[in-house]
Amino acid sequence: MKVLIVGNGGREHALYWKINQSPLVKEVFVAKGNGGIKGKRVPIDPTNVKELADFAQREGIDFTVVGPEAPLVEGIVDEFESRGLKIFGPSQRASMLEGSKVFAKRFMLKHGIPTANFEVFEDPDKAKRFVKDFGVPLVIKADGLAGGKGAVICKTEQSALETIDLFMNRGILGPAGKRVVIEEFLEGEEASYIVMVNGTEYVPLPTSQDHKRLLDGDKGPNTGGMGAYSPNPFVDAETEKAIRELIIERTLKALAQEGIYYRGFLYAGLMLTSRGPMVLEFNVRLGDPEAQPLLMRIKGDFLEKLLDFYEGKKVSLDIDERCSLCVVLASKGYPEKPEVGKEIHGLEDIKDEDVIIFHAGTELKDGKLITTGGRVLNVCAWGNSLKEAKEKAYKAVEKIHFEGMHYRKDIGDRALKFF
Ligand code: ATP
Repeated sequence: MKVLIVGNGGREHALYWKINQSPLVKEVFVAKGNGGIKGKRVPIDPTNVKELADFAQREGIDFTVVGPEAPLVEGIVDEFESRGLKIFGPSQRASMLEGSKVFAKRFMLKHGIPTANFEVFEDPDKAKRFVKDFGVPLVIKADGLAGGKGAVICKTEQSALETIDLFMNRGILGPAGKRVVIEEFLEGEEASYIVMVNGTEYVPLPTSQDHKRLLDGDKGPNTGGMGAYSPNPFVDAETEKAIRELIIERTLKALAQEGIYYRGFLYAGLMLTSRGPMVLEFNVRLGDPEAQPLLMRIKGDFLEKLLDFYEGKKVSLDIDERCSLCVVLASKGYPEKPEVGKEIHGLEDIKDEDVIIFHAGTELKDGKLITTGGRVLNVCAWGNSLKEAKEKAYKAVEKIHFEGMHYRKDIGDRALKFF
């Protein structure tokens, strides 16, 4: 069969790698993909949903898997389904769970899904007054999609007032920041809990933990994610039960009650607090970089499972007992203003079979591999322990070089300390 993967990042490279192993596959296309993808690349932007649907019809694509949120929020699933094309992802309406923080927070409040207390503001002066009354720390979140730049943890009143100015008065995020959610600051360990959903049926993927902040020790600004690993030891059996019952099952029931059919990946970004697991955000897709270590731990034919699940059959996933870990190599200036166009060296020197490199911001030009984005490569490894996976990944990282390359050196350390 012919499969189309939509997206350009490390997550899509990992999806390509996994799906391409299926005996069911004749061809895998990726729109647009990156320099690491050896399959057929389609030069259509992931948000150009009409052109993608035209392509899928023309090419006779049997099944499409969507990576990033933007095409989902644009309505790619509605467009494909209206043309009778099979696609795995939530509809535009269901994608509001990620597309609007205000929608998601009100949805959680209405349906008793645990989340931080919050207020919504459309008027910057009222938001500032609230900050002065409420005090810090608190978290200010832009309502719309902001590519990981829309949530700011404010530990001082001054930074909160500045964030309100930047989002609401100066409009640095465009329309996405015109409305904000201000919520209480939660303390605890973070966990990413991702499930495949078809209506009220769901299948959990392995647990994982992302590293959102730019610098070691969880310092610096939030990013799209600087590394991840799986499994997440903070999610023990009891915590997982609570996540499933209080968050996932309640959410799926609530969606059904609201008449919203959900099919696709659903990602709950969680804080494991002393009050129990609480939702920081929903994403309507796999996380990036979590998808990379997650997909590495799924054994067998993932495409077959995905197709069966899509058709409404019961499926369960066979999970590799080994751990996996992913280190993101970023460009100088990321996340604000990444410098691109630098040649990447050293990939050919990595010989370890337990290491796999998923590309993100790369492109092949005149036979050279060049950086094209903020997050450039995902260096991933399997290990019998998290420690081993970490050692293997960082050993490979040392072989790679491009001008301005930087990365976190402490991916997995919180879990290693826990052990
Ligand atoms: P993403 O790039 O994942 O879409 P986002 O911009 O949608 O991110 P959130 O996921 O809501 O924003 O928040 C980003 C990060 O900020 C979280 O992973 C977490 O580290 C931190 N964070 C968010 N909300 C809170 C909170 N209430 N208390 C403490 N930390 C928080």
